[in-house]
Amino acid sequence: NVTLAVLTSGGDSQGMNAAVRSVVRVSIQLGVTVYFVKEGYHGLIEGKAYITKANWYDVSFTLNLGGTIIGTKRCMPFMTREGRMKATKNMISLGISNLVVIGGDGSLTGANIFREEWPSHINELLKNSNYCLFLLTFGNKHLNIRLEEIDEETSKKFDHLNLVGIVGSIDNDFSGTDMTIGADTALHRILEAIDSIVSTAFSHQRTFIMEVMGRNCGYLAVKSALMCEADYLFIREWPQKLDWPEKLCKNVQMARNHGKRLNIIIVSEGAVDSNGNAITSEMVKNVLVDRLNQDARITVLGHVQRGGSPSAFDRILASRMGAHAVMCLLESTAETEPKVVCLNANTIVHQSLMECVKSTMEIGKAIEEKDFDRALKLRGQSFNQ
Ligand code: ADP
Repeated sequence: NVTLAVLTSGGDSQGMNAAVRSVVRVSIQLGVTVYFVKEGYHGLIEGKAYITKANWYDVSFTLNLGGTIIGTKRCMPFMTREGRMKATKNMISLGISNLVVIGGDGSLTGANIFREEWPSHINELLKNSNYCLFLLTFGNKHLNIRLEEIDEETSKKFDHLNLVGIVGSIDNDFSGTDMTIGADTALHRILEAIDSIVSTAFSHQRTFIMEVMGRNCGYLAVKSALMCEADYLFIREWPQKLDWPEKLCKNVQMARNHGKRLNIIIVSEGAVDSNGNAITSEMVKNVLVDRLNQDARITVLGHVQRGGSPSAFDRILASRMGAHAVMCLLESTAETEPKVVCLNANTIVHQSLMECVKSTMEIGKAIEEKDFDRALKLRGQSFNQ
């Protein structure tokens, strides 16, 4: 009789609901008892009303909803051992030692630490339990404490945590998978916005500077630039030489000389020059206004990129990943290392969570150190698409 829990954590992304739905339905179909953990790790630590049994119809008509119906929250207490131990206690009190975490690299790093620590939490809870048993001899006063702790049998039954991660992130910034859940929809949102702006830009012969998300990962910026025939692109992984204002003006002016009535410039929120200094939308606008006397406007897309209904691609990707996650958990043993579900060449596979988290962190480090060549090489698959 297997019991598992599913939670969403960190920044939300469109398609998370489809993953939750798939985990719930595939579990029920296979006779697995499944729990929602509301508000991410916060719910895991709070327990009680936050961890509720899921049924088949709880997830009806959620495929088309953006965000996450079970909530997400950033949770500082989960960064501490004490907080994570509370989470362990809450899980075993409901007979849960299988967990699906849907989140970004931060959430999956936390999940990995949680799983590594789990056996020591169980040992400690058992030790406390023996201690409380001793206290019991002094009267009923400590009875409640004893009941909250665990016995030898429980500690053996829950000696390890089976863990599987699914990556929900609009940035497509996780190593090991070609696509993360939400990136395709975010790209659609950006293109819808650019398409809307193009008509007004055309009428007034304006230039629009579109600022998109993806601080350390230029995936959204690169793809949207390609798909809207942008005149110029600024991303972190491709630092601009210091003469970028001249080059920008040359490109934009050339297009105008050929009769183009508008220009679109894509600026990723993390864009930098070769000295590592930020290139902001405001700086780009000022160059165009001061040097070319253009009517240039900035549109910061912000959270619009996270919003709205998931695309067909994300609904299908998330559904496939959710189903795969349940199968992975059912095959897990104490010796199985935690997995993350990935898309590789249109096939759903699983990879070592630790390896993928490590490689994702290495990319982040390479970017921090301005070693962009290494970052791109490490990222490989997702950027080549
Ligand atoms: P994302 O998962 O989208 O990258 P965050 O980095 O904000 O988002 O992480 C979400 C939550 O995951 C954090 O609020 C925290 O509870 C947990 N978390 C992140 N990093 C760690 C860590 N190193 N150790 C423990 N928990 C972590």
